[in-house]
Amino acid sequence: MFTESQSQRTPLSSLGEFGLIQHLAQNIQLQDPGSLLGIGDDAAVFDHGADNSLISTDLLCEGVHFDLSYTPLKHLGYKAAVVNFSDIYAMGGRPRQMVVGLALSNRFPIEAVEELYEGLRTACKIYNVDLVGGDTTSSKSGLVISITIVGSAQPNEIIYRNGAQPKDLIVVSGDLGAAFLGLQILEREKRIFLEHPEIQPDLQGNEYVLERQLKPEARKDIPQLLRDLGVRPSSMIDVSDGLSSDLLHLTKAANLGCRIYEDKIPLDPQVIRLSEQLNINPITAALNGGEDYELLFTIPLQDFDKIKHNPHLTIIGHMTEQNDAAMLVLKDGHSVALTAQGWNHLNEAADENI
Ligand code: ADP
Ligand code: MG
Repeated sequence: MFTESQSQRTPLSSLGEFGLIQHLAQNIQLQDPGSLLGIGDDAAVFDHGADNSLISTDLLCEGVHFDLSYTPLKHLGYKAAVVNFSDIYAMGGRPRQMVVGLALSNRFPIEAVEELYEGLRTACKIYNVDLVGGDTTSSKSGLVISITIVGSAQPNEIIYRNGAQPKDLIVVSGDLGAAFLGLQILEREKRIFLEHPEIQPDLQGNEYVLERQLKPEARKDIPQLLRDLGVRPSSMIDVSDGLSSDLLHLTKAANLGCRIYEDKIPLDPQVIRLSEQLNINPITAALNGGEDYELLFTIPLQDFDKIKHNPHLTIIGHMTEQNDAAMLVLKDGHSVALTAQGWNHLNEAADENI
């Protein structure tokens, strides 16, 4: 798994920039009637009718955001697209058109770019998004992918980060911490591989966390579920940096405090088992790990009955008054302040309680 298995390696120079774009574009079809013009002109054209347009962009750099020694290019393309879709769902919108900026190093054969595009195309197909353009250039320092996603929503459907009210319930979809543990497993196997190339990576039994890291999904289903339940979140964000920092975005934007409960944080059994094995506190993985791409939102207290017992949703706490702190209540009843640690700081924090 740590070597790219390309049987053919056609150098990029054999096609040139325009040839490459043409080559990539030939497999791309438009499916959204709102995409009036895709690849081929100086700009794409789309029509969102009376809806508002939403736009969001993400930049991914090799060595900083991904490691090609254990990330298959197909997965990388898929993930790069899906994490952008997640931002649009987090606004209550629908992702519709996407443009892709690529900086390619010479060591990339055409087959590698094709794999990357296969991942992008698969994500577009599954989420009904059109790839309508991009830009292509060469890079002297590895692969860079920039994705810009355009979505739409009726103005009254858009959910901002700042709408929470005191006493609102804090709800998260799915479970947390798995993507971070997947990364730990991949890093561990990479270290072993570098020291002992003859040893095959041992990834068995860790499929769930690996999939959460390498091939995450955006929670397209949750906004629809909430509409079906008749619940409108007062604020929403997707969990990309870890529960702690993303929840702090909601509390800061609303100028409120919050209390969440350690024993309510949803964890997959594989996360609990692996955390023990790797000597990581699973709550730390959930709070600071990031890349889970679940939706975190607040709802009015009176909507409690509509979502309780829903298998996709977990109530983890509630918002408190203005000037209150953001607190995590531990299992033993003590509480500690939530802090905005990115996952880079996780290793330092792993030894402490949170
Ligand atoms: P310009 O000189 O106007 O930037 P380009 O030659 O870069 O035009 O691009 C030609 C067309 O190909 C444009 O429609 C652009 O959006 C599209 N395109 C360029 N690179 C990519 C890419 N990596 N993926 C998809 N479309 C691309
Ligand atoms: Mg260009």
